[in-house]
Formats: sequence, C-alpha cells, structure tokens
Amino acid sequence: NLNVTWAEAWIREGARVIAEHRAELNTLDRAIGDGDHGENMDRGFQAVVLKLDALPAGSTPGDVLKLVATTLISTVGGASGPLFGTAFLKAAVAVGTVGDLDAAAVAALIAAARDGIVLRGKAVVGDKTMIDAWTPAVDAAAAARNADASVVTLLQQAADAAAAGAVSTEPLVAHKGRASYLGERAIGHRDPGAESTTLLLRAAAETAA
Ligand code: ADP
Ligand code: MG
Ligand code: MG
Repeated sequence: NLNVTWAEAWIREGARVIAEHRAELNTLDRAIGDGDHGENMDRGFQAVVLKLDALPAGSTPGDVLKLVATTLISTVGGASGPLFGTAFLKAAVAVGTVGDLDAAAVAALIAAARDGIVLRGKAVVGDKTMIDAWTPAVDAAAAARNADASVVTLLQQAADAAAAGAVSTEPLVAHKGRASYLGERAIGHRDPGAESTTLLLRAAAETAA
C-alpha cells in the first residue's frame, strides 16, 4: 500500500521531471498553442515543492493532493492550472483521510482526477487534450484492479496507457483549447497536456516501485 511518504515522493519526482522536460513541453505547445505549457507546469510544481517542504507532520496522502490542487490553481495561469488543479482536488476528495492507499484507492484516485478534468473542461477522448492520456490511464488502472494486480503494477500500466494515449493525439485535429483554433494544422503534433500527464503518472509509478 502507498502512504503519505509515497504521495510526497510522487509529487517531488513529478516536479523534477516537469522541470527536466520544461523546454520540451514548451516546444510541443509552441507547435499548437502559445508555447508556455512547460513554463506553466514548472512554475506550479516548483511552488508545490516549496509548500511540501512545510508539510505538517501527520499529513495524509489526501492532504498532499489537496496542497497540490490549491497551489496549482493559484500559481498556474492558463488552461492547465484549473484543469490539473481540479484533477488533484477531486483526487484528494476520492482518497479521503485514509493513510494507506490500496490498489482500489489508487484506481479511484486516477479516475476522480480524470473526472475532475472532464467536469471542468468538457473534453472527450479524441479532442486532442490531456484527456486522451488520462482516460486510457483510468481504463488501464480499472483493468489492473479487476485483475488483482499490485498497486505498483496498476500504476505502471496506467502510465504506459497514458504514454500511448499521448502518442495517439498526434494525428488528431483538436476540438478543445488553443489547438482547436488551428484546424488541420494541429495534425502531426502531440498534445502538450497529454505529455505532461504522462510524465506525472510515470512519476507516480516510479516512486511506488
Ligand atoms: P494555455 O493553453 O492556456 O496556454 P497550457 O499551455 O498550460 O494552457 O495548457 C494547454 C493544455 O491544456 C493542452 O495541451 C490540453 O491538454 C489542455 N487543455 C486545454 N483545454 C482543455 C479542455 N477543455 N479539456 C482538457 N484539457 C484541455
Ligand atoms: Mg499554452
Ligand atoms: Mg498560455
């Protein structure tokens, strides 16, 4: 099972890989948006790391997720701030105040995050957004859960599915966000939010292993 130590390690590793891929995420967003996705995510996650340094003793995984949510909402300008912010807020509500997350709880966390993004942004699979990474991850997590996989396997399969989902955005025309203004010119480019989603879910799996 995964506890608050994992939740904190996940988010710190997520912040590290977002920083590492900042330029790459900007480049993806420059092709079909305004070029700031890496900057937006890095600003938000660096602010999150500073707040994690002051995380009170006795915090739960849900407390970490809530801290991520409020920090992203207040520090990330752009579409991705409220979207990821709502994702982490709904994930926090889903896990509640329990200290240890089993496979069912982690599957519920991922599903609640995705549902939060859909509630906020109204995207469906195929709209060329971060939902194209999140929804396959939700489905893979549910399948792993039904197969009684370990929580580590569940997270690895979710991350693999997100990665494939991010690649699947490349041939698509966008129907949400800035990329939707480009029509067919968006074809051939990967959605930056689907890529950052993959980085975050990969960090979740790697810190659980
Ligand atoms: P902005 O477009 O305001 O500059 P970012 O560049 O940080 O914000 O984020 C862009 C990402 O947000 C896109 O790559 C896409 O994945 C995601 N996105 C935009 N609109 C939506 C939406 N309605 N639903 C889900 N995701 C969206
Ligand atoms: Mg942008
Ligand atoms: Mg912007």
